[in-house]
Amino acid sequence: MNEQNILIFSGPSGVGKNTVSKYFLNDSELNIYPSISATTRKKRKEETNGKEYYFLTVEEFQTKINNNEFVEWAKYVDNYYGTLKSEIIDKINNNRMVYLEIEIIGVKNILKIFPNATTIFLSPPSIEELEKRLISRKTETKDIIKKRISKAKEEISQKDLFKYVVINDEPERAAEEIKNIIKRVKTNSEM
Ligand code: 5GP
Repeated sequence: MNEQNILIFSGPSGVGKNTVSKYFLNDSELNIYPSISATTRKKRKEETNGKEYYFLTVEEFQTKINNNEFVEWAKYVDNYYGTLKSEIIDKINNNRMVYLEIEIIGVKNILKIFPNATTIFLSPPSIEELEKRLISRKTETKDIIKKRISKAKEEISQKDLFKYVVINDEPERAAEEIKNIIKRVKTNSEM
């Protein structure tokens, strides 16, 4: 098993993780297997259960915590999010690159188990820009946006925890930078 094949992608809410990750996840040459997280957050209109997330009730989530089914889990702005062992263990044992998009507490917890995981932080060009994007996305209420912005500041201050920091000034450019990182990691892990 090669820990570097655990690709962890993180960054504040609204930074554009989905837009950027689509470019490299859809690149068949890179062959990346996304891990689908569980969450207690309400499903957004455009989301499908089992695709973006497994949407669970708090009780269902707690049962999985008690049954030790998570590699890591965290509470993020009033909701639970967690990576299921069943989503990653087989894949990494089969030498596949598995993709996790998780917040910073989860990153720290995964690094305790897999210190050599590949970690990438997607940073906004500025906090002002991030706020603009969150407001224009219209997926969250004002109150939640405020909480997510304060969380973002906290996250940005911890970006040194990551092996790579990529600035999302332009999604396609940022994705290219990430593709190059992934290619390098893959070449190293094959040597
Ligand atoms: P959102 O509600 O915008 O989909 O996600 C909120 C935050 O939760 C994001 O920073 C996302 O990366 C993070 N997240 C998603 N899945 C997981 C997970 O399985 N574990 C942890 N720790 N964070 C997650």
